[in-house]
Formats: sequence, C-alpha cells, structure tokens
Amino acid sequence: MSDVVLIRLEDPHHHQFYPPLGLLYVASALMLDGFTVKIFHEKGGNKKINRLRGMINDENPFLVAFSVFTGPHLYYNLKASEIIKEEHGVPVVWGGIHPTILPEVTINVPFIDYVVIGEGEETIVELAERLRRGRSVKGVNGLCYKENGNVIINEWRPFVKNLDRYVLPWELVDVEKYVQKQWGVERVLPIITSRGCPYDCGFCYNTYVHKRRWRAHSPDYVISQVSFLKERYDIQGINFYDANFFTDKSRAFKILSSINMPWAAEVRADEFDMEFGKKMKEFLCRELFIGAESGSDRVLKIINKEITTEQIDNAVKICNEFGIRASLSFMLGIPGETEEDIRRTVEFMYDLKEKYQCAKIFGPKVFTPYPGTPLYPKAIEFGLQPPTTSLEWARNFHRFKCNLPWVDNKNLLESLYFICQLAQMNAKDPISKIIKSIEDFRWKNQHFKFLYEIEIVKTLAKSPMLVRLFFKHFGC
Ligand code: SF4
Repeated sequence: MSDVVLIRLEDPHHHQFYPPLGLLYVASALMLDGFTVKIFHEKGGNKKINRLRGMINDENPFLVAFSVFTGPHLYYNLKASEIIKEEHGVPVVWGGIHPTILPEVTINVPFIDYVVIGEGEETIVELAERLRRGRSVKGVNGLCYKENGNVIINEWRPFVKNLDRYVLPWELVDVEKYVQKQWGVERVLPIITSRGCPYDCGFCYNTYVHKRRWRAHSPDYVISQVSFLKERYDIQGINFYDANFFTDKSRAFKILSSINMPWAAEVRADEFDMEFGKKMKEFLCRELFIGAESGSDRVLKIINKEITTEQIDNAVKICNEFGIRASLSFMLGIPGETEEDIRRTVEFMYDLKEKYQCAKIFGPKVFTPYPGTPLYPKAIEFGLQPPTTSLEWARNFHRFKCNLPWVDNKNLLESLYFICQLAQMNAKDPISKIIKSIEDFRWKNQHFKFLYEIEIVKTLAKSPMLVRLFFKHFGC
C-alpha cells in the first residue's frame, strides 16, 4: 500500500530511456512530509498500461500523479489516466512541462482532476495533505482545477528556495534500466544539478517554465550525490542533464574538479575558448552537447540564440583539438526561415561533420511552437492553428512530424532527420555501407528528390519496435 503513485509513460519510439528525475524530486518532497510513494516509469504501450493497473490495484493510493511533456507519448498518459480514473476513481494529477504550458487544455480532459503548474514539489505536498484531510484545495498556489465547471488557475508558486533539501530516493526506481554505456565507459547515469536558464531563446520552453531564473544545487550536494551513486550503484560516468550546466562556471568547475570521473554536459557555443577546452579535458570531459539550432545567422537572430555560426564552428574546433565529442542539435521550421536558410543549415551541418572528427549532428528536428515561448506569437502570425486538446498535441507535434503551415516542403523537413542520421551511422555490413553512402551523397549535394528509401524508413519508424531495432542496428 502506498499513499501516492507517481507515473511517467514515455514514447515507445524513443530508443533512449532517462531516469524520471522530476518524479524522483517530487517523491523526495512527499517522503519528507511522511507520505509513502511508488514510482511507475515505463515506455507506453498496452502491456505496460496493464502492469500499471496491477500496481494501482496493489498499492491502492489516494492520489496518482503523472509527469508529462508534449509529444506522442501524451496519448499513453491520457489512456492510462482514463483507465485509472474509471477503475479506481482516485484523483488524477498531471504535472510537468506540457500541463505547465497548457493548464487549460489539460484540465479540460474529463479524467484529469488537478494540474500542477511549474515546480511540483511543494504544490503536490500541499495538495496531498489537503486531500488526505478532506480539505478544500482552494488557494493552493501552483494548482489548476475545475470548480462548478469553471477553470481555476491559481497563482504560480515561488521557486523552491533550497533545492538541496531534496535528496533523490533512487531506491524507488530500477537504476539498472538507466545505466548506459557511453564513450567506452560502462556505467553512465544522467543526473540534474540545476534548473532553468537565464537566456531567452525563442523556441525554448525554459524561458516560460523557469522564467529565465537559474537555480542550482550546491557543489557539495552534487559531489556527495555523485559519490553516493558511485558507491551504491558503481556509476563510473555522469551525464549532466541540466539545461545550462555552465551558468555559474565556478560552481561547475568545483563540481567537475571533484568528481573524478568522465562526464558530459550541455554548453552554449559562446562559452568556448582554448582555456575552457583545456579545463574540460583536465576534468575528464567526454562529450559536450551544443545547441547549434541553425546554420543561418539570420535564423539564429530570429530565435534570439545570441550565438553566431562562427562561434559554433569555433566551439567544435576546440572540442576537436582536445578530443572531446561535440554533439550538435539543429532544428528546422522556424517561422520566417527561408529555403536559403534551410539550404545553409544543411550545408553547415555537413561541413561541421566533415571538418571535425569529433562532431556528431543530432536532428535536424522539426520546430515545435510551444505556447508561452517568445516565438509562439510569431507562429500564430504565420498561420499556426494551435491544437485545442492534449490528444491533438500528441498527434500533431513531435520531432518527426511537420505540421507547420508556413513550411512549403514539409516532407523534406520530416526526411532530413533520417537522411542525416543514416549518413552518420556506424555502418558495419555491406547493406548499411551502401545506405550510408547514398544518404551522405544526398546530404552533401542537397539532392532530395525521389526519397523512396526514406519513405520506407519513415513508414517503419511508426513501429516502436522497429525504431529500436533501427537505432541498435545502425548505431545512429
Ligand atoms: S535553448 Fe538553451 S540557452 Fe536557450 S534558453 Fe533554452 S536552455 Fe537556455
């Protein structure tokens, strides 16, 4: 028996599986307040939903809470919420990025009772306390609910003052599911050491969800957590999953100089100089994720990224110099982006890959116009008809799908991801080698006619199992 069951159902197409860090924070807050908690974290799908039903039967919680972000997996979270509500009548809460950005759309789902907006820890504790005592939820900051058919959205709660208060209860999840082999290191685990980001990139949900306020754990907290993970789970490498790990460089350097193990982190292209590269090498950095987004300086200005293509090139050059893998993410479909901008981005990505052995291109993904982001009004101006239900959001917006009315060649945007990934695959057998060279030729020469093989790959990509096999076989 548990008081609360926390649930996260992922997109079954995703080949990677990260720990449900948000749920672990919420679990920590509930446990500090004396609640008993279970976590259910799986890829979506009927079998998994049946397992979840079994867990709810066994645990008989008085509250279930889902953590959800926008994407196709919304469908599974909706389905599971409906089943739980029907079978148990227990209050269902949704929190996370999707409900925070779209509280009204979310609360209008008939089987969702409460929406937690913004950081969940304090709100869910107050909600659980009130429900347990049978008290009204009126005035709970950070909460959205319905009263006599009217949507009530309470004030946002101030951000958590002391993040170090929350020590993650890793024992609630099967850590082995999340341990990955990376950079030749057998046991790498992702963690988060900070929240938010002070920048204001036009497409990024951080600007709305975290209000450009960066908050962080103290270096001592992070160092002790890493040493716990090392001792308890034999973790040998860390993937810092922070939106902007280097916001406070002295904090970051203190952590990195103490953990004494290989690691990866997100970093902005404008942080790089030779001194920075040298330090990264000394601190055992293996991979840096750089949000490059576009190969067109005009588009970088539109999205207010505050970096240039020259800085991106310089960042990758420095990574190359110090033998650090540079993973660069790109996106296409920004409102105002022209065919020439797309051509430049495709060319820029190819040049980086060719010039620097360390460069790995991620994407290009299709831009998602999240409400609340600075670019959203522009997307509306360019003809976006925003979905009105969570299910429509699930169906219409994800990384492989282009439903942007201002994009003329939607098929090309949906295909480029597959072309670029296949061209970078680790081809071992003759068939893979042929596919790789065809896609490399397409990418290099921007020859995007008669994409028959990509149409087949896109059709196969609709099956979660085939997507996983695809990534496993082609190593991309
Ligand atoms: S894209 Fe990166 S740098 Fe820009 S606001 Fe988001 S987290 Fe910050």
